Amino acid sequence: MAEARRERRVVVIGAGIGGLVSALLLARQGVQVTLLDSASGPGGKMRQQQVDGAAMDAGPTVFTLRWVLEQILEQAGHSLADLPPLTPLPVLARHAWRGHDATLDLFADARRSAEAIGAFAGADEARRFVAFCAEARKVYRTLEGPYMRSAKPSVPGMIASLGPRGLATLTGLGPFNTLWRYLGRHFQNPRLRQLFARYATYCGASPWQAPATLMLVAQVELDGVWAVQGGMHAVAQSFARLAGQHGATLRYGSACSRILLDQAGHTRGVQLASGEELPADAVVFNGSPQALVNGLLGPAVRHAAPSQPVKRRSLSAVTWAVNAPTAGFELERHNVFFDDDYRSEFEDIFHRRRLPGAGTVYVCAQDRGGAQPWPSGAPERLLCLVNAPADGDQRPFDAQETDPCEQRSLSLLGSCGLRLSPQPHQMQRTTPTDFNRLFPASGGALYGQATHGWMALFQRPGASCRVPGLFLAGGGVHPGPGVPMAALSGQLAAAALMAHLGSTSRWHPVATSGGMSTRSATTAAMP
Ligand SMILES: Cc1cc2nc3c(=O)[nH]c(=O)nc-3n(C[C@H](O)[C@H](O)[C@H](O)COP(=O)(O)OP(=O)(O)OC[C@H]3O[C@@H](n4cnc5c(N)ncnc54)[C@H](O)[C@@H]3O)c2cc1C
Repeated sequence: MAEARRERRVVVIGAGIGGLVSALLLARQGVQVTLLDSASGPGGKMRQQQVDGAAMDAGPTVFTLRWVLEQILEQAGHSLADLPPLTPLPVLARHAWRGHDATLDLFADARRSAEAIGAFAGADEARRFVAFCAEARKVYRTLEGPYMRSAKPSVPGMIASLGPRGLATLTGLGPFNTLWRYLGRHFQNPRLRQLFARYATYCGASPWQAPATLMLVAQVELDGVWAVQGGMHAVAQSFARLAGQHGATLRYGSACSRILLDQAGHTRGVQLASGEELPADAVVFNGSPQALVNGLLGPAVRHAAPSQPVKRRSLSAVTWAVNAPTAGFELERHNVFFDDDYRSEFEDIFHRRRLPGAGTVYVCAQDRGGAQPWPSGAPERLLCLVNAPADGDQRPFDAQETDPCEQRSLSLLGSCGLRLSPQPHQMQRTTPTDFNRLFPASGGALYGQATHGWMALFQRPGASCRVPGLFLAGGGVHPGPGVPMAALSGQLAAAALMAHLGSTSRWHPVATSGGMSTRSATTAAMP
């Protein structure tokens, strides 16, 4: 029986969270999996940087939607206990504004947030916040099944599955409303509008172009934000370890240069940059779908995904991984420093295609959020991030462009009281050009295609593509970016691939030790 299972070979290209989830679920179901990545370890964007002797998260830092990884682990016969310990954060984020002493914290407990908003902006705004949370919850619950868990939603399919109540919830928002306009109807305090508009950037979008439905991110955060012991990168390492335990072969430092097709146009394997060929019955590609279009995986698969114009790319970023002491401002784990002219940030990035002159600075203080306050004066690990245009393949983001951005960012932090003066050896900068080099053909976009306009929700490619036997997973694929969404896409790709193998004559679905058959894995990801 085991022989029958192992006779099918799959190559997964990319050990980002989408590829790791696919590899784990496929290996668990008895497929012979080889996972390739050109990087020296797993994680993709969930990467670490070493700064002045300290390893720190240099990619995602906000861990949400824990249920997603939980149900994927359960499907693979594991549980959250197989991940590093997760600690819920009581404070979701601390917010500060240029030149203002008052800060505003949002809490996991919405009542505490309402109190804080009441003290910050008055009782009427606190009431509006409570109503906003109720609406965000409704929108999230409405879209979770028909959109997030669906293999490839379409407008007619969504309308059919939403039902009258779901449709009423969405039309209540104004179907063509942007997040910015919606928030203007909701909050009167401009700082609150700015704060909640930032949720658009979680999907790499501008609040002026993102659909109002992205307000559901408020509910995502209220469902919990966790700190991961050892950092987010440790989550990727755990998935890689589990995939290995189920028999997947993990090959790092192995760039794939070609996806090979047989004469009938079906996937038959891959070729590595070294020239080595690996035969495969099916392939999962976890890189940017645009890499296929640009021919980076060979001419035969250029038509596998739709082309994405540069102007439809989501946000990139300039990041500074810092290991240095801070003073003058009590940092929480997640901190957001807003400048005065929010609109100009997105006009600079999306229209003028330059680094923002008044960019918001996000600071993740990775050593904070525990029970004990961080000792003053001790060096601490910080990831500072400013949004940027995803033009990393259009021009070099050299020091002439990034130095002034760094100065502006430090000055914004300083105007909020935070003193931070890292020495050159205490800091590492990553630009859109670097992100494009790490994630080829992305331009440095960190979240695939921007969620601009409500139709954008339906324009991402799905797991199945135009090439039989080739499947797509990752933040550039439905249901979208962010660790949980990219993980869901990996699950969808594994399910579609199993269905593909099941539809061919040599494959016989078998029960696995956890009682899950290939068929149940296929249907598990469907709404
Ligand atoms: C700075 C930053 C901050 C972020 N903040 C958050 C956050 O707080 N919360 C959140 O949820 N998300 C956040 N994100 C987004 C999140 O990290 C991504 O959406 C998610 O990790 C993407 O996973 P993925 O499956 O698309 O794979 P990716 O992480 O994109 O990895 C793809 C992998 O494929 C490999 N690859 C590509 N082509 C080839 C090839 N030809 N051969 C071999 N290997 C190849 C690459 O080397 C890479 O390792 C952030 C991202 C960044 C960079």
